Amino acid sequence: MAVTKPTIQWVPSPNYTKGRNRSIRAITFHHIVGSDDSAISKFKNSASQTSSTYVVGDTKITQMVLEGNTPWTNSNFASNSECITIEHEGDWRNGYRNEAVINNSAKLVAWIRSRYPSITYNRHREVSLKGTVCPADLPVEEIWNKATAILNPPRPKPTPAPPVDPVVVTDITNRVMVTNKDANLWDLTFNTWAEAKSVKVIPKGTDIEVSATAKHKLGGTYFMTEYSFAKGIMNGINAVDLSEKPVPPPVDPDPPVDPPTQPPVEPSVPISVLEAFWAAVTKLWIEMLNKFRSK
Ligand SMILES: [Zn+2]
Repeated sequence: MAVTKPTIQWVPSPNYTKGRNRSIRAITFHHIVGSDDSAISKFKNSASQTSSTYVVGDTKITQMVLEGNTPWTNSNFASNSECITIEHEGDWRNGYRNEAVINNSAKLVAWIRSRYPSITYNRHREVSLKGTVCPADLPVEEIWNKATAILNPPRPKPTPAPPVDPVVVTDITNRVMVTNKDANLWDLTFNTWAEAKSVKVIPKGTDIEVSATAKHKLGGTYFMTEYSFAKGIMNGINAVDLSEKPVPPPVDPDPPVDPPTQPPVEPSVPISVLEAFWAAVTKLWIEMLNKFRSK
């Protein structure tokens, strides 16, 4: 990853070989046995015939030789040719420790490693052709590991999104509805349609006492049965699969009994006509009798 270049001052040393006859493959760690300023002063002096690519103090980092040139630090020209060298302030013997130097070195090493990903490291005493204890107890592995941490900062753990309740349940007045088809009782805890699963199939025409509605976040309204709602079980039937139960017509407690009807008997001939006929016959008969008697 990209590493921020630490603040580095440039104080050139005359003590180097232009260019390199080997490619850079390692960082060499040194200790100064004194202050960084004492090393800078020495490396500026051509009479010393020594230098270092970098000098790390507890308040500053100094570059004295370009990385593309060969520093005179390792008491071994071949090693100088393939190494970037770093001098560290302090005499790292007898328990000496300087946190600021360690941290400055780690920042510098991380920046170098970000540009030379396969670079390794060594200690002056491992490559020197002269006897030396340099860099004594400088905690090289600690510096390297701190640089690794700078190169690979721990990823912040993604904070898990708070679980979203997939349904919003609303209590309603209980009422009996009826399935208008073979209807699924759905487990409403699904978060994607692919996860939706049927608990069971309720046959068409089944009376269901509903007690709550459940609106699912993916859409759709479901009725929860009295049983599911009371038990807190997230099951529901799609609202479109239930119909209101038809209200039966009111039943009269005493239906009126129709009295049996007597068909009226129609006389075949109106009485008044018969009476008039018989009255006329009687009258005629009396008249004839009277005539016959008066003769
Ligand atoms: Zn050294």
